[in-house]
Amino acid sequence: MIIDNHVHVGWYRDGYHSPKEIWEAETAAGVDEICVSSTSTCAELYDIVIEEMIELKRLGGSKVHPILWITPQMLKSEKIDKMFLSDIEWQGIKIHPEAHNEWSNTKALTSRAINIAVKRKIPFMIHTGEDVVANAITFENYYAEYPQLQFILAHGKPFQQALNMLKKYNNITIDSAFMNAKDVNRFCKAGFPDKIIFGSDAPINKLFYKKLSTQEYIKKNIYQLRKNISPAFSESILSKTVYFK
Ligand SMILES: [Zn+2]
Repeated sequence: MIIDNHVHVGWYRDGYHSPKEIWEAETAAGVDEICVSSTSTCAELYDIVIEEMIELKRLGGSKVHPILWITPQMLKSEKIDKMFLSDIEWQGIKIHPEAHNEWSNTKALTSRAINIAVKRKIPFMIHTGEDVVANAITFENYYAEYPQLQFILAHGKPFQQALNMLKKYNNITIDSAFMNAKDVNRFCKAGFPDKIIFGSDAPINKLFYKKLSTQEYIKKNIYQLRKNISPAFSESILSKTVYFK
């Protein structure tokens, strides 16, 4: 059983990635279930986001878990209501502070996004990175303020900060998207194999590894985890999720 907890569909810098392309690449790579958000969100194409999720659900049924990527504009324009009035059952919320810096410096806005997840009892995913606006510790106040909320630090960056957050708070999970398998193993060895879930970030790979198909890229990710981490840990990382039971 393999769950890819970090998947995208839609418009991106390199063009369009259709629901069919994504679902076929994932299943061909051996993935059973996906948690997926749409990059079309960043172009504020909300109707297209809804259509993509409907199509993904048609293709994968209960094996497809929609994650709602929220932008500051979606909140300010109140178009967020439209996303929840659609028939999509959103199973998580995502924000991306590198794409939208406001999340890192506008508490009222970020709290509003977080409270949507709290109210709906769904996890809250934050893209983390080396840029200070998206550092794992940039959002530390929220981990402390909302102990009942499950936070997912996508990419777990910077490594040492993410590790410190794991040590300090028990409502943190890290996804392995774009993370070196050796770093995943370092989290395991530090005592947190249960706090790591598998994510591929497909099809963003197309931007960085042009020669590899998305299917091959996901397969390689799975292979690297199995190669670098003991079977007990790697199989649990590959099959775990916090987005659904
Ligand atoms: Zn991503």
